[in-house]
Amino acid sequence: MEFHGALVASPGMGHAVPVLELGKRLLSHHGFDRVTVFLVTDDVSRSKSLIGKTLMEKEEEDTKFVIRFIQLDVSGQDLTGSLLTKLAEMMRKAIPQIRSAVMDLELKPSVFVVDLLGTEALVVAKELEITKKHVLVTTSAWFLAFTVYMASLDKETLYKHLSINRALLIPGCTPVKFDRVQDPSNYVRELTETQRIGLEVVTADGVFVNTCHSLEPVTISSFLDQENLGRVMRGVPVYPVGPLVRPAEPDLKHEMLDWLDLQPKESVVYVSFGSGGALTAEQTMELASGLEMTGFRFAWVVRPPAEDDPSASMFDKATNQTEPLDFLPYGFLDRTKDIGLVVKTWAPQEEILAHEATGGFVSHCGWNSVLESIVNGVPMIAWPLYSEQKMNAWLVSEELKIAARVDVGNGVVKKEEIVEVVKKVMDEEEGKEMRKNVKELKKKTAEEAVKNLSTPQAAYFNHN
Ligand code: UDP
Repeated sequence: MEFHGALVASPGMGHAVPVLELGKRLLSHHGFDRVTVFLVTDDVSRSKSLIGKTLMEKEEEDTKFVIRFIQLDVSGQDLTGSLLTKLAEMMRKAIPQIRSAVMDLELKPSVFVVDLLGTEALVVAKELEITKKHVLVTTSAWFLAFTVYMASLDKETLYKHLSINRALLIPGCTPVKFDRVQDPSNYVRELTETQRIGLEVVTADGVFVNTCHSLEPVTISSFLDQENLGRVMRGVPVYPVGPLVRPAEPDLKHEMLDWLDLQPKESVVYVSFGSGGALTAEQTMELASGLEMTGFRFAWVVRPPAEDDPSASMFDKATNQTEPLDFLPYGFLDRTKDIGLVVKTWAPQEEILAHEATGGFVSHCGWNSVLESIVNGVPMIAWPLYSEQKMNAWLVSEELKIAARVDVGNGVVKKEEIVEVVKKVMDEEEGKEMRKNVKELKKKTAEEAVKNLSTPQAAYFNHN
């Protein structure tokens, strides 16, 4: 019997990258004969260009690993609210297309995998009688814990936590503190979607998480413990399969990589806020001034400012390479031309972090960025913007001690604070300790990744 896996990624590179990596791994190491990855997107050409030419060319040659795009028409759709509610709404709309795309497959899949935002599509596996259905969590085990635990609480209890800002005590793992929320009813949509996802996760046959023991030992142990999160999961097994990270392409050409070739070892601060992150105009100015004031070399992937939505770049079709950089301080590019490089919109992050000149990473702490920094041994300056990034920032700074955290709670982060936090990581004793810690973690996660690769297929898919 041919073993075929169908995987579905919700919109955004943060979901596409790990789903594609899992797909490749099922094929190369876990005995699958064929893998089809469906990428849901509102803009196929943008997604194609972001995923990169290299991968697409490989795909054309390869009939065992097939990538298909599911183009969504989002016109007329209510895309207000948080990123989570927007993406959940998009995935809901995509279900009929996912169903017919899976039905059209020449070879019926025996395994169906969706990411955390696509759990509503698990019904497709049930309807089509696909043997096994799994969820891939593209973020931390801690966030999975938060989601499933939230789903086990009633709304009253949850609102109480929100309104008095009391930490949510998740069994067997670090409590989650909410931001101060004046009116919890504003969060109804977000809470409803999160609770729905939490309930759907436990209808799967198994849950893969893009993490490993050395990153989240306590949370992973809690999932294995029937007195703790194991109970909340109602017997659904949780497998830490990470880090699933796209390997750096050794021969890739890019102006930022050429520039890094000319810089000393570990001297450059790389600045990027993921695929969706956007700063306000004032914050962009302040960051530019801060970078200039530090005097450190920097490589910055810059985006046009957005005033109301820190995840604005996710769906920003207007952003393109030819846009002027007139939102940066007057004369900034000229004054910093000997120490800094600014590129617009997008850069090959994995290759940049793997470059020996990169010495620090100012990051929004999207989970893929966190993992990519760790597998390349680069300490971080954690600057969370949206979604679960504050939890990720907490994890890397307070628990793993591989990052310094920017205080994002007081509006605009001032240039003086940016200087202080960059110096801490690049120059001070504390930073040396972080660098040592992240290099140790790099070694440990690499060992765990190899161990995960040799896990037999049966261990993941033959459970009852
Ligand atoms: N990425 C990249 N170049 C960029 C910005 C992002 O290659 O200029 C990649 C990054 O390496 C990561 C993904 O896009 O694999 C972003 O995922 P993450 O979880 O860090 O953040 P998100 O974009 O989902 O907020």
